[in-house]
Amino acid sequence: MSAVIEKFIRYVKFDTQSDTETGLTPSTPGQMFLAKELTRELEEMGLENISLDENGYIMAVLPSNLDHEVPAVGFVAHMDTSPDFSGKHVKPQFWENYNGEDIVLNEEKNIVMKVADFPELKKYKGQTIITTNGITLLGADDKAGVAEIMTAIEYLTEHPEIKHGPVHVGFTPDEEIGKGADFFNVKKFGAEFAYTLDGGEIGELQYENFNAAFAKISFQGRNVHPGMAKDKMINSMLIANEFLTRLPENEVPDKTEGYEGFYHLISMAGNVENSNLQYIIRDFEMKKYEGRKQFVQSLCDEFCEKYGEGSVSLEITNQYYNMREKIEPVKYIVDIAEEAMKQVGVEPMIIPIRGGTDGSRLSYMGLPCPNIFAGGHNFHGRFEYVPVESMEKSVEVILKIVELISKR
Ligand SMILES: [Zn+2]
Repeated sequence: MSAVIEKFIRYVKFDTQSDTETGLTPSTPGQMFLAKELTRELEEMGLENISLDENGYIMAVLPSNLDHEVPAVGFVAHMDTSPDFSGKHVKPQFWENYNGEDIVLNEEKNIVMKVADFPELKKYKGQTIITTNGITLLGADDKAGVAEIMTAIEYLTEHPEIKHGPVHVGFTPDEEIGKGADFFNVKKFGAEFAYTLDGGEIGELQYENFNAAFAKISFQGRNVHPGMAKDKMINSMLIANEFLTRLPENEVPDKTEGYEGFYHLISMAGNVENSNLQYIIRDFEMKKYEGRKQFVQSLCDEFCEKYGEGSVSLEITNQYYNMREKIEPVKYIVDIAEEAMKQVGVEPMIIPIRGGTDGSRLSYMGLPCPNIFAGGHNFHGRFEYVPVESMEKSVEVILKIVELISKR
Protein backbone atom coordinates (compact mmCIF):
# COMPACT_ATOMS: atom_id res chain seq x y z
CA MET A 1 0.00 0.00 0.00
CA SER A 2 1.41 3.41 -0.86
CA ALA A 3 2.20 5.86 1.94
CA VAL A 4 -0.66 8.21 1.11
CA ILE A 5 -3.22 5.40 1.23
CA GLU A 6 -1.83 4.01 4.49
CA LYS A 7 -2.20 7.45 6.05
CA PHE A 8 -5.63 8.05 4.59
CA ILE A 9 -6.98 4.75 5.93
CA ARG A 10 -5.61 5.61 9.36
CA TYR A 11 -7.10 9.14 9.40
CA VAL A 12 -10.60 8.16 8.30
CA LYS A 13 -10.88 5.93 11.38
CA PHE A 14 -10.97 9.07 13.53
CA ASP A 15 -14.54 10.32 13.85
CA THR A 16 -14.08 14.03 13.21
CA GLN A 17 -17.63 14.99 12.23
CA SER A 18 -18.15 18.67 13.05
CA ASP A 19 -21.28 20.03 14.70
CA THR A 20 -22.99 23.38 14.17
CA GLU A 21 -24.67 23.26 17.59
CA THR A 22 -21.87 23.11 20.17
CA GLY A 23 -20.56 26.65 19.67
CA LEU A 24 -17.05 25.39 20.46
CA THR A 25 -13.87 25.37 18.37
CA PRO A 26 -13.15 22.67 17.53
CA SER A 27 -16.83 21.89 17.57
CA THR A 28 -16.24 18.24 18.46
CA PRO A 29 -13.51 16.47 20.52
CA GLY A 30 -12.80 13.87 17.81
CA GLN A 31 -11.10 16.54 15.72
CA MET A 32 -8.63 17.15 18.53
CA PHE A 33 -7.73 13.43 18.66
CA LEU A 34 -6.82 13.49 14.98
CA ALA A 35 -5.01 16.81 15.46
CA LYS A 36 -2.84 15.26 18.19
CA GLU A 37 -2.01 12.29 16.00
CA LEU A 38 -1.03 14.56 13.11
CA THR A 39 1.08 16.73 15.43
CA ARG A 40 2.88 13.63 16.68
CA GLU A 41 3.62 12.57 13.09
CA LEU A 42 4.89 16.03 12.16
CA GLU A 43 7.22 15.89 15.17
CA GLU A 44 8.47 12.48 14.06
CA MET A 45 9.21 13.91 10.63
CA GLY A 46 11.30 16.60 12.29
CA LEU A 47 9.36 19.68 11.20
CA GLU A 48 9.90 22.99 12.98
CA ASN A 49 7.66 25.50 14.77
CA ILE A 50 5.01 22.85 15.25
CA SER A 51 1.98 24.12 17.12
CA LEU A 52 -1.44 22.77 17.96
CA ASP A 53 -3.54 25.49 19.57
CA GLU A 54 -6.56 25.10 21.83
CA ASN A 55 -8.91 25.59 18.85
CA GLY A 56 -7.42 22.63 17.03
CA TYR A 57 -5.33 24.48 14.43
CA ILE A 58 -2.06 22.80 13.48
CA MET A 59 0.80 24.75 11.96
CA ALA A 60 4.29 23.52 11.13
CA VAL A 61 7.22 24.41 8.89
CA LEU A 62 9.59 22.35 6.81
CA PRO A 63 12.53 24.74 6.61
CA SER A 64 14.21 25.59 3.33
CA ASN A 65 17.35 23.70 2.30
CA LEU A 66 18.21 26.19 -0.42
CA ASP A 67 21.00 28.74 -0.19
CA HIS A 68 18.86 31.46 -1.73
CA GLU A 69 15.49 32.87 -0.78
CA VAL A 70 12.27 31.72 -2.38
CA PRO A 71 8.67 32.46 -1.32
CA ALA A 72 7.27 30.43 1.55
CA VAL A 73 4.42 28.25 0.27
CA GLY A 74 1.68 26.75 2.43
CA PHE A 75 -0.56 23.72 2.06
CA VAL A 76 -3.82 23.61 3.99
CA ALA A 77 -6.50 20.94 4.53
CA HIS A 78 -9.34 20.48 6.97
CA MET A 79 -9.64 17.66 9.48
CA ASP A 80 -13.39 17.63 10.08
CA THR A 81 -16.05 15.80 8.10
CA SER A 82 -19.56 16.97 7.24
CA PRO A 83 -22.31 17.14 9.87
CA ASP A 84 -24.66 15.84 7.14
CA PHE A 85 -23.69 12.20 7.45
CA SER A 86 -22.09 9.89 10.01
CA GLY A 87 -18.32 9.64 10.05
CA LYS A 88 -18.22 7.10 12.84
CA HIS A 89 -16.74 3.61 12.32
CA VAL A 90 -15.76 4.32 8.73
CA LYS A 91 -14.87 1.02 7.05
CA PRO A 92 -13.21 1.73 3.72
CA GLN A 93 -13.48 -0.87 0.98
CA PHE A 94 -10.96 -1.28 -1.83
CA TRP A 95 -12.03 -2.11 -5.37
CA GLU A 96 -8.84 -3.07 -7.16
CA ASN A 97 -8.75 -3.01 -10.92
CA TYR A 98 -12.28 -1.59 -10.84
CA ASN A 99 -14.41 -3.06 -13.62
CA GLY A 100 -16.39 0.11 -14.37
CA GLU A 101 -19.69 -1.37 -13.20
CA ASP A 102 -22.13 -0.85 -10.32
CA ILE A 103 -20.54 -1.31 -6.89
CA VAL A 104 -22.40 -3.16 -4.16
CA LEU A 105 -21.37 -1.18 -1.11
CA ASN A 106 -23.46 -3.18 1.30
CA GLU A 107 -25.03 -6.45 0.33
CA GLU A 108 -27.02 -6.87 3.52
CA LYS A 109 -28.64 -3.44 3.24
CA ASN A 110 -28.75 -3.55 -0.54
CA ILE A 111 -26.84 -0.30 -0.98
CA VAL A 112 -25.49 -0.06 -4.50
CA MET A 113 -23.51 2.74 -6.13
CA LYS A 114 -24.82 2.77 -9.67
CA VAL A 115 -22.91 3.94 -12.70
CA ALA A 116 -26.21 5.31 -14.03
CA ASP A 117 -26.36 7.69 -11.05
CA PHE A 118 -22.64 8.45 -10.95
CA PRO A 119 -21.35 8.19 -14.53
CA GLU A 120 -17.94 9.63 -13.57
CA LEU A 121 -17.18 6.20 -12.10
CA LYS A 122 -16.43 4.96 -15.60
CA LYS A 123 -13.40 7.23 -15.81
CA TYR A 124 -11.72 5.07 -13.16
CA LYS A 125 -12.06 1.71 -14.83
CA GLY A 126 -8.89 -0.26 -14.19
CA GLN A 127 -7.91 1.89 -11.19
CA THR A 128 -8.29 1.16 -7.48
CA ILE A 129 -11.29 2.87 -5.91
CA ILE A 130 -11.83 3.31 -2.18
CA THR A 131 -15.49 3.44 -1.12
CA THR A 132 -17.50 3.28 2.09
CA ASN A 133 -19.48 0.26 3.25
CA GLY A 134 -22.66 2.23 2.58
CA ILE A 135 -23.31 3.18 6.19
CA THR A 136 -21.05 6.20 6.73
CA LEU A 137 -19.38 8.83 4.60
CA LEU A 138 -15.77 8.15 3.66
CA GLY A 139 -14.08 11.34 4.78
CA ALA A 140 -12.02 11.86 1.62
CA ASP A 141 -13.32 15.40 2.14
CA ASP A 142 -10.88 16.28 3.42
CA LYS A 143 -8.72 13.54 4.90
CA ALA A 144 -7.54 12.80 1.38
CA GLY A 145 -6.11 16.33 1.42
CA VAL A 146 -4.60 15.84 4.87
CA ALA A 147 -3.00 12.52 3.84
CA GLU A 148 -1.67 14.00 0.60
CA ILE A 149 0.02 16.91 2.35
CA MET A 150 1.46 14.66 5.07
CA THR A 151 2.81 12.25 2.46
CA ALA A 152 4.42 14.97 0.38
CA ILE A 153 6.08 16.46 3.46
CA GLU A 154 7.27 13.06 4.62
CA TYR A 155 8.72 12.43 1.18
CA LEU A 156 10.65 15.70 1.31
CA THR A 157 12.04 14.90 4.78
CA GLU A 158 13.14 11.48 3.56
CA HIS A 159 14.79 12.89 0.44
CA PRO A 160 16.97 15.79 1.59
CA GLU A 161 18.62 15.79 -1.84
CA ILE A 162 15.44 17.39 -3.20
CA LYS A 163 15.92 21.13 -2.93
CA HIS A 164 13.01 23.21 -1.70
CA GLY A 165 12.11 26.51 -0.08
CA PRO A 166 10.16 26.82 3.18
CA VAL A 167 7.01 24.70 3.14
CA HIS A 168 4.30 25.56 5.66
CA VAL A 169 1.62 23.11 6.69
CA GLY A 170 -1.79 24.00 8.15
CA PHE A 171 -4.59 21.71 9.28
CA THR A 172 -7.84 23.31 10.33
CA PRO A 173 -11.00 22.25 12.18
CA ASP A 174 -14.66 22.94 11.37
CA GLU A 175 -14.47 23.80 7.68
CA GLU A 176 -17.75 21.99 7.09
CA ILE A 177 -19.61 24.31 9.43
CA GLY A 178 -18.09 27.37 7.80
CA LYS A 179 -15.72 28.16 10.64
CA GLY A 180 -12.45 26.78 9.34
CA ALA A 181 -10.86 30.17 8.83
CA ASP A 182 -12.23 31.80 12.00
CA PHE A 183 -9.16 31.30 14.17
CA PHE A 184 -6.56 30.81 11.45
CA ASN A 185 -3.65 33.04 12.34
CA VAL A 186 -2.33 34.06 8.93
CA LYS A 187 0.62 35.96 10.38
CA LYS A 188 1.72 33.06 12.52
CA PHE A 189 1.30 30.68 9.60
CA GLY A 190 3.95 32.72 7.82
CA ALA A 191 3.48 31.61 4.21
CA GLU A 192 3.30 34.11 1.36
CA PHE A 193 0.55 32.14 -0.34
CA ALA A 194 -0.97 28.71 0.06
CA TYR A 195 -3.11 26.03 -1.56
CA THR A 196 -6.02 24.26 0.02
CA LEU A 197 -6.12 20.58 -0.92
CA ASP A 198 -9.87 20.39 -0.74
CA GLY A 199 -11.08 20.05 -4.30
CA GLY A 200 -12.88 17.11 -5.83
CA GLU A 201 -11.84 15.09 -8.83
CA ILE A 202 -8.38 14.89 -10.31
CA GLY A 203 -7.38 18.05 -12.17
CA GLU A 204 -9.57 20.53 -10.30
CA LEU A 205 -7.95 23.89 -9.77
CA GLN A 206 -10.06 26.71 -8.45
CA TYR A 207 -9.48 30.35 -7.70
CA GLU A 208 -12.93 31.84 -8.21
CA ASN A 209 -15.96 31.50 -5.98
CA PHE A 210 -19.23 33.28 -5.36
CA ASN A 211 -19.72 36.63 -3.70
CA ALA A 212 -22.32 35.81 -1.11
CA ALA A 213 -24.96 37.67 0.86
CA PHE A 214 -27.78 36.69 3.17
CA ALA A 215 -31.00 38.70 3.09
CA LYS A 216 -33.95 38.59 5.44
CA ILE A 217 -37.07 40.48 4.39
CA SER A 218 -39.70 41.03 7.09
CA PHE A 219 -43.32 41.93 6.36
CA GLN A 220 -45.52 43.62 8.92
CA GLY A 221 -49.25 43.00 8.54
CA ARG A 222 -52.28 43.98 10.61
CA ASN A 223 -54.49 41.29 12.05
CA VAL A 224 -58.17 42.00 12.58
CA HIS A 225 -61.06 39.60 13.11
CA PRO A 226 -61.74 38.28 9.60
CA GLY A 227 -65.45 39.04 9.96
CA MET A 228 -64.74 42.75 10.33
CA ALA A 229 -61.60 43.00 8.28
CA LYS A 230 -62.78 44.95 5.26
CA ASP A 231 -60.28 47.74 4.51
CA LYS A 232 -58.56 47.07 7.84
CA MET A 233 -56.71 43.76 7.69
CA ILE A 234 -53.28 43.56 6.08
CA ASN A 235 -52.19 39.96 5.56
CA SER A 236 -48.40 39.92 5.69
CA MET A 237 -48.21 36.47 4.06
CA LEU A 238 -49.92 37.76 0.94
CA ILE A 239 -47.48 40.66 0.70
CA ALA A 240 -44.58 38.22 1.11
CA ASN A 241 -46.06 36.10 -1.65
CA GLU A 242 -46.38 39.11 -3.94
CA PHE A 243 -42.78 39.99 -3.14
CA LEU A 244 -41.28 36.63 -3.99
CA THR A 245 -42.99 36.49 -7.36
CA ARG A 246 -41.18 39.70 -8.28
CA LEU A 247 -37.76 38.04 -8.21
CA PRO A 248 -36.61 36.63 -11.57
CA GLU A 249 -37.95 33.10 -11.71
CA ASN A 250 -35.07 31.68 -13.72
CA GLU A 251 -32.33 33.04 -11.47
CA VAL A 252 -32.50 30.21 -8.97
CA PRO A 253 -29.99 27.44 -8.14
CA ASP A 254 -31.82 24.73 -10.05
CA LYS A 255 -31.83 26.77 -13.27
CA THR A 256 -28.30 28.19 -13.21
CA GLU A 257 -24.76 26.91 -13.68
CA GLY A 258 -21.22 28.02 -14.50
CA TYR A 259 -20.84 31.73 -13.88
CA GLU A 260 -24.56 32.45 -13.47
CA GLY A 261 -25.71 33.93 -10.18
CA PHE A 262 -29.01 33.52 -8.37
CA TYR A 263 -31.45 34.47 -5.63
CA HIS A 264 -32.20 31.43 -3.54
CA LEU A 265 -35.20 31.41 -1.20
CA ILE A 266 -34.04 29.28 1.73
CA SER A 267 -36.87 29.88 4.16
CA MET A 268 -40.34 31.38 4.41
CA ALA A 269 -42.42 31.70 7.53
CA GLY A 270 -45.40 33.71 8.52
CA ASN A 271 -48.84 34.42 9.84
CA VAL A 272 -51.24 37.28 9.20
CA GLU A 273 -49.37 39.69 11.44
CA ASN A 274 -45.73 38.93 10.55
CA SER A 275 -43.96 37.08 7.77
CA ASN A 276 -40.42 36.79 6.57
CA LEU A 277 -38.48 35.49 3.61
CA GLN A 278 -34.83 34.49 3.78
CA TYR A 279 -32.66 34.49 0.72
CA ILE A 280 -29.08 33.79 -0.13
CA ILE A 281 -27.78 35.92 -2.99
CA ARG A 282 -24.87 34.73 -5.13
CA ASP A 283 -22.86 36.07 -8.04
CA PHE A 284 -19.29 35.92 -9.31
CA GLU A 285 -19.04 39.45 -10.67
CA MET A 286 -18.92 42.10 -7.94
CA LYS A 287 -20.96 44.50 -10.05
CA LYS A 288 -23.72 41.99 -10.65
CA TYR A 289 -23.59 40.93 -7.01
CA GLU A 290 -24.07 44.53 -5.87
CA GLY A 291 -26.80 44.89 -8.49
CA ARG A 292 -28.67 41.92 -7.04
CA LYS A 293 -28.54 43.37 -3.54
CA GLN A 294 -29.72 46.73 -4.86
CA PHE A 295 -32.58 45.08 -6.70
CA VAL A 296 -33.83 43.50 -3.46
CA GLN A 297 -33.47 46.85 -1.72
CA SER A 298 -35.41 48.66 -4.45
CA LEU A 299 -38.22 46.08 -4.27
CA CYS A 300 -38.42 46.66 -0.52
CA ASP A 301 -38.63 50.42 -1.11
CA GLU A 302 -41.35 49.95 -3.68
CA PHE A 303 -43.37 47.72 -1.34
CA CYS A 304 -42.97 50.21 1.49
CA GLU A 305 -44.41 52.86 -0.74
CA LYS A 306 -47.31 50.64 -1.66
CA TYR A 307 -48.12 49.22 1.79
CA GLY A 308 -46.92 52.02 4.04
CA GLU A 309 -43.80 53.05 5.88
CA GLY A 310 -42.34 50.20 7.93
CA SER A 311 -44.45 47.48 6.33
CA VAL A 312 -41.38 45.87 4.76
CA SER A 313 -37.86 45.83 6.19
CA LEU A 314 -34.65 44.38 4.88
CA GLU A 315 -31.57 43.07 6.68
CA ILE A 316 -28.75 42.16 4.35
CA THR A 317 -25.31 40.85 5.30
CA ASN A 318 -22.30 39.99 3.20
CA GLN A 319 -21.08 36.45 3.86
CA TYR A 320 -17.96 36.02 1.75
CA TYR A 321 -16.38 37.29 -1.45
CA ASN A 322 -14.91 35.94 -4.66
CA MET A 323 -11.25 35.19 -3.97
CA ARG A 324 -10.37 35.98 -7.59
CA GLU A 325 -10.01 39.60 -6.58
CA LYS A 326 -7.22 38.67 -4.16
CA ILE A 327 -5.62 36.05 -6.37
CA GLU A 328 -5.52 37.89 -9.69
CA PRO A 329 -2.73 40.24 -8.48
CA VAL A 330 -0.67 37.09 -7.73
CA LYS A 331 -2.03 35.02 -10.58
CA TYR A 332 1.34 33.28 -10.98
CA ILE A 333 0.40 31.05 -8.02
CA VAL A 334 -2.43 29.60 -10.13
CA ASP A 335 -0.07 29.28 -13.08
CA ILE A 336 2.39 27.34 -10.93
CA ALA A 337 -0.31 24.87 -9.90
CA GLU A 338 -1.46 24.53 -13.50
CA GLU A 339 2.08 23.93 -14.70
CA ALA A 340 2.70 21.43 -11.88
CA MET A 341 -0.35 19.42 -12.92
CA LYS A 342 0.70 19.37 -16.55
CA GLN A 343 4.22 18.26 -15.65
CA VAL A 344 2.94 15.26 -13.70
CA GLY A 345 0.47 14.32 -16.43
CA VAL A 346 -2.74 15.71 -14.96
CA GLU A 347 -5.09 17.72 -17.19
CA PRO A 348 -5.92 20.91 -15.23
CA MET A 349 -9.62 21.79 -14.99
CA ILE A 350 -10.01 25.40 -13.95
CA ILE A 351 -13.60 25.84 -12.84
CA PRO A 352 -15.42 28.37 -10.65
CA ILE A 353 -16.66 27.18 -7.26
CA ARG A 354 -20.40 27.71 -6.92
CA GLY A 355 -20.01 28.20 -3.21
CA GLY A 356 -17.36 29.39 -0.80
CA THR A 357 -14.20 27.81 0.54
CA ASP A 358 -11.94 28.42 3.47
CA GLY A 359 -9.44 29.43 0.83
CA SER A 360 -11.61 32.37 -0.18
CA ARG A 361 -11.76 33.61 3.38
CA LEU A 362 -8.03 33.04 3.88
CA SER A 363 -7.40 34.99 0.68
CA TYR A 364 -9.23 37.97 2.17
CA MET A 365 -7.30 37.52 5.42
CA GLY A 366 -4.05 38.06 3.51
CA LEU A 367 -3.16 34.52 2.45
CA PRO A 368 -3.98 34.07 -1.25
CA CYS A 369 -5.19 30.51 -1.43
CA PRO A 370 -6.38 28.69 -4.57
CA ASN A 371 -7.87 25.22 -4.20
CA ILE A 372 -6.47 22.01 -5.66
CA PHE A 373 -8.09 18.59 -6.13
CA ALA A 374 -7.80 16.04 -3.37
CA GLY A 375 -9.35 13.39 -5.63
CA GLY A 376 -12.68 12.45 -4.03
CA HIS A 377 -16.23 12.33 -5.38
CA ASN A 378 -19.74 12.50 -3.90
CA PHE A 379 -18.76 14.28 -0.70
CA HIS A 380 -20.91 14.30 2.44
CA GLY A 381 -22.68 11.00 1.94
CA ARG A 382 -22.54 7.23 1.70
CA PHE A 383 -21.51 7.27 -1.97
CA GLU A 384 -18.31 9.16 -1.33
CA TYR A 385 -15.31 7.53 -2.99
CA VAL A 386 -11.76 8.31 -3.98
CA PRO A 387 -9.52 6.66 -6.57
CA VAL A 388 -6.07 5.72 -5.23
CA GLU A 389 -4.38 6.99 -8.39
CA SER A 390 -5.94 10.46 -7.94
CA MET A 391 -4.54 10.72 -4.42
CA GLU A 392 -1.10 9.64 -5.58
CA LYS A 393 -1.21 12.25 -8.35
CA SER A 394 -2.18 14.89 -5.84
CA VAL A 395 0.96 14.12 -3.83
CA GLU A 396 2.98 14.48 -7.03
CA VAL A 397 1.34 17.85 -7.72
CA ILE A 398 2.30 19.13 -4.26
CA LEU A 399 5.90 18.03 -4.76
CA LYS A 400 6.01 19.58 -8.22
CA ILE A 401 4.64 22.90 -6.93
CA VAL A 402 7.36 22.95 -4.28
CA GLU A 403 9.95 22.19 -6.95
CA LEU A 404 8.69 24.88 -9.35
CA ILE A 405 8.77 27.48 -6.58
CA SER A 406 12.33 26.51 -5.66
CA LYS A 407 13.37 27.38 -9.20
CA ARG A 408 11.83 30.82 -9.24
ZN1 LIG B 1 -13.82 19.94 2.18
